[in-house]
Amino acid sequence: MFRIRFHGRGGQGMKTASRVLGTAFFIEGYEVQDAPLYGAERRGAPVFASVRADKTSINERGIMRAPDLVAVADDTLVSLSSANVGSGASGKTVLLVRSELAPDVWKGRLNFPGTVLAIPPTSEPKLSGMVMASASSALVKVIKRASLERAVREELAHLGPKAIEKSLVPALETFDLMSRYSGAVTEGPAPADFEPASPDWVELGFEDADVSAPSIRAEATSELTKTGLWRTVKPVIDYVACNRCWWLCSTYCPEGAIKVGPDGRPEIDYDHCKGCLICMAQCPADAISAQPEHREDAK
Ligand code: SF4
Ligand code: SF4
Repeated sequence: MFRIRFHGRGGQGMKTASRVLGTAFFIEGYEVQDAPLYGAERRGAPVFASVRADKTSINERGIMRAPDLVAVADDTLVSLSSANVGSGASGKTVLLVRSELAPDVWKGRLNFPGTVLAIPPTSEPKLSGMVMASASSALVKVIKRASLERAVREELAHLGPKAIEKSLVPALETFDLMSRYSGAVTEGPAPADFEPASPDWVELGFEDADVSAPSIRAEATSELTKTGLWRTVKPVIDYVACNRCWWLCSTYCPEGAIKVGPDGRPEIDYDHCKGCLICMAQCPADAISAQPEHREDAK
C-alpha cells in the first residue's frame, strides 16, 4: 500500500492535493482512501491530508503513522512542532519539501532518516497543493502523466475551464520535472503485515461522575470557582476616559465578569475575569488597559 501524507497551510490546497492524487491513483486502478484533517480550520493554520492507495480493499483507517512519502508544501512548517511533519518517518520514507533550500540542508537540519527531495516554490502559493500532488504522482511511478491530467480536470471541473488550465500548467511541469525521481517512493507494508505503533495514550478507568467529580456537579460551582486565578494580565478601567457605553464591554465579556452599576459604570469582577482582554479590544474609548498581574498598580 502507498501511504502519502501532505502537510501545508490552510489556503494552500492540501485537500485538493489529496483529492487529485487519490483520483489519479483511482484512474490507474487502485483502491483509494483520501482524507483531509484540519486542526484549526482557518487560513494559514497547519493542515494535513493523507492518501492511501492499494490494489486491494483498504481497511486501514485513521491517522497515517508510517508514511512512504511526506510532501510539505510550505517549508516554514518543517520546524513547527505542531505540524509534526517528521511523524512516523523511517529510512524508507521520502520527504519532499517545497523550498528554495537544497535537500541536503533539510536532511541535515532534521536529521531525516530517509531520502529528501526539494522542489522550488515557483508557482503561486495557492497552487502549492496542485504542485505537491503532481510531484507525488511522478515519484510513485505508477501514475501516468495522462492520468494526472485527467485527475486534475475531474477534480477542478466545478471551477471551470480557466481554473483548470491555470492549474494544469504547473501540475504537468512539476510532473515532468520530478519524473527524474520516478520510483523514489515505493509501497509500504501491506496492512496485514503492518503493526502500527502504540498511540501512547493512557487508559483511565471509568468512574461514575458522582464519585469522581462531586464538587463539579454541585450547584453554583461556576460562581465559586475563582477563574480570576488563571489571569496573567489584568484589564483596568480608566473611569475618566470611560463613556459608560456598558453594553459593549459587558456584552462581549465571555465570562459575564463585567457588572454594570445603576449609573452605567462598568465594574470588573476580578474573581472571575480570566484576562482575555476582549473587553479592551471592544472598548471604543480605549478606556481599558492591560496591566501585568504582578504589578502593584494593577490593583
Ligand atoms: S466599553 Fe469602554 S468606554 Fe464603554 S463602558 Fe466599557 S470600559 Fe467604558
Ligand atoms: S479581560 Fe476578558 S474576562 Fe476579563 S473582564 Fe475583560 S472580557 Fe471579561
